[in-house]
Amino acid sequence: MAEFDLIERIRRRSQTRPDVVLGIGDDAALIAPPAGMQLVVATDTLNHGVHFPPQTHSFDIGWKALAVNLSDLAAMGAQPAWGSLSLSLPEADPDWLDGFIDGFMQLAGEHGLSLIGGDTTRGPLSVCVSVIGLIAPDQALRRDAAQPGDDVWVSGTLGDAAAALALWQQGHHIPQALRTRLDSPTPRLPLGQTLAGLAHAAVDISDGLLADVGHIAEASAVAIDIELEQLPASAALQALGVEPQTRRHWQASGGDDYELCFTAAPALRETIRSRALACGTAVTRIGRVCAGQGITAMLSGEPVQTIRNGFEHFAAR
Ligand code: ADP
Ligand code: MG
Repeated sequence: MAEFDLIERIRRRSQTRPDVVLGIGDDAALIAPPAGMQLVVATDTLNHGVHFPPQTHSFDIGWKALAVNLSDLAAMGAQPAWGSLSLSLPEADPDWLDGFIDGFMQLAGEHGLSLIGGDTTRGPLSVCVSVIGLIAPDQALRRDAAQPGDDVWVSGTLGDAAAALALWQQGHHIPQALRTRLDSPTPRLPLGQTLAGLAHAAVDISDGLLADVGHIAEASAVAIDIELEQLPASAALQALGVEPQTRRHWQASGGDDYELCFTAAPALRETIRSRALACGTAVTRIGRVCAGQGITAMLSGEPVQTIRNGFEHFAAR
């Protein structure tokens, strides 16, 4: 298959929103954003061997490449609108591409996102997606807006993806529920949108809770205490029956959860619980924001030393 055929295969599958004036096929796309809205732009790359195990099905790669980007929009409280897809492929394999596009388009369809362009080249497998979302002015959930006295909340459960990755690396069987969390994470878009203008700061958890919450603390110039006992664990994670320290390590420092961590005034507890319930996403209070700086992980009311703060691509090993 030639490059043109690959692009045509992708174009045929892309739905178009009415605000796309010109989609895939010209030198660039044209969009007509709604008046008065701000555009929210995010980009994330998935590389073979770094962001997914070598045997990952192309459907899951397509899903995840978009999901990690939509998770960034969720963390800003934005509504997804348009996307661009840069593909580097070792070979023009139509079956691989169809699986990839199935995964990508299924998630795009669920959230009303139109694919409006991209780039296709030959090279080591790498997928770079950019997304553009919409938000009303002054509603975005920024990292620099946490305030002393805020509660710290997290959505869903933590540690499933890290557990799946650890089991895979050790050659063990991976329970399906954990594997799904690693291969096809769910971006928390409805939750992010309902929190926009209500919560103070937010971040999505891609590199590990403590590392990502550290970004909020730093950007907001505050201290954050996290109570490790409060970190929510899925039934599948609990059923593994591993040592509590191992489980807590996955939950506090494992990457790829794509849950939202956010801060909000304590007066909003009930509002936040009921709005989260309405979105079908559980939320748990896991800590508080204080004056000062740095992240403290607490166990039984005492600060504990954590082993490693999260995934960092260029960290010394
Ligand atoms: P150019 O050489 O002008 O950059 P390309 O041949 O790279 O043109 O792309 C032709 C059209 O196909 C453009 O509209 C581009 O956005 C789109 N396109 C290319 N690759 C992809 C892709 N992987 N996904 C979506 N659209 C793509
Ligand atoms: Mg091009």
